[in-house]
Amino acid sequence: MRVPVRTRARDPYPEATMSVPLVDGFGRVHRDLRISVTDRCNFRCTYCMPEEGMTWIPRADLLSYEELARVAGVFVDWFGFESIRLTGGEPTVRAHLPVLIEKLSRLQVPGRDGAPSRPVDIALTTNGATLRTAAHDLAAAGLRRINVSCDSLRRDRFLAMTRRDELEAVLDGIDAAIEAGLSPVKVNVVAMRGVNDDELVDFARFGRERGVTVRFIEFMPLDAQEAWTNDQVLTQDEILATIAAAFPLEPVGSASRGSEPAERFRYLDGGGEVGVIPSVTHAFCDSCDRVRLTAEGELRSCLFALDAHDLRGPLRLGASDDDLAEIVQTAVAAKWAGHQINQPVFIRPSKSMSQIGG
Ligand code: SAM
Repeated sequence: MRVPVRTRARDPYPEATMSVPLVDGFGRVHRDLRISVTDRCNFRCTYCMPEEGMTWIPRADLLSYEELARVAGVFVDWFGFESIRLTGGEPTVRAHLPVLIEKLSRLQVPGRDGAPSRPVDIALTTNGATLRTAAHDLAAAGLRRINVSCDSLRRDRFLAMTRRDELEAVLDGIDAAIEAGLSPVKVNVVAMRGVNDDELVDFARFGRERGVTVRFIEFMPLDAQEAWTNDQVLTQDEILATIAAAFPLEPVGSASRGSEPAERFRYLDGGGEVGVIPSVTHAFCDSCDRVRLTAEGELRSCLFALDAHDLRGPLRLGASDDDLAEIVQTAVAAKWAGHQINQPVFIRPSKSMSQIGG
């Protein structure tokens, strides 16, 4: 069955452009696109990749920056997508990343209800190791926001977790991002029992002192080595209890976090905010508004989706924007209610986090 797709030629009058919401079978409206620009990475985090033995996507199979911008344009023009996050692998290892950001920053989100159009919000998730040299060019190209991953503030442990002795570069990269005017700068920490669970308060203090929001991510079953077990997951409740004992906290906003993956908390003494992304214990699938495009052009409606919809083939065979929009609608229409980690029916996707795009 063909899904009805709005058909229109690209409107020559931007102020008259209309978009249609991209709605799935559960009524969730999608407005956030995650683009993996590469599956390669300069780190080998133990919870993500093996030290050796990853098979990389051949270069010819990666979507070019022109192709990525074309697909992103369909999401923004047709479906009113408001935000695009670049990830990977490690996005900064792909050459000339600012060229892509510059292309994406030209995309205008059609205004709704008579509001004027506005530039799409562009964000990046990175391990931060190259930001001292890259941050300025990324910001100049149109990057607004950045999340830097850092799982330990101790050099030996950072080395053990990432298999790279780069803690100093990452911390300097966080400073470089702030100096380049990227805002907000958030620091993502994968919290693992028995690995870095004794650093929760150190990270909270780090965030308070540097003026960045630290967000703890629950460990998910997306590691390439399939070593994940539930007892390694440091839960949101445990994380918050530990931090609140040192720095009392209160929730930010209403009980509902909307489509925001992080539960937000503020320090009662005005020291800023901390967040937890409780993907395992309090999954946010009910309000999920994101779609993922892998580096080789597969559309995935969920990190844990078992199926993917190919866009690269149609793109390279001359598909129109209309054709691409139809594939997108078909993919999102079939999105499931949510992942079922910890349920007997849960099946891991065959691809790992770095191959899908975290
Ligand atoms: N290389 C970039 C980085 O380090 O941020 C972007 C890609 S990385 C896959 C994106 C995020 O996913 C990082 O914050 C990383 O720590 C997180 N991540 C990777 N594997 C994970 C897992 N099994 N569970 C939870 N988070 C994971």
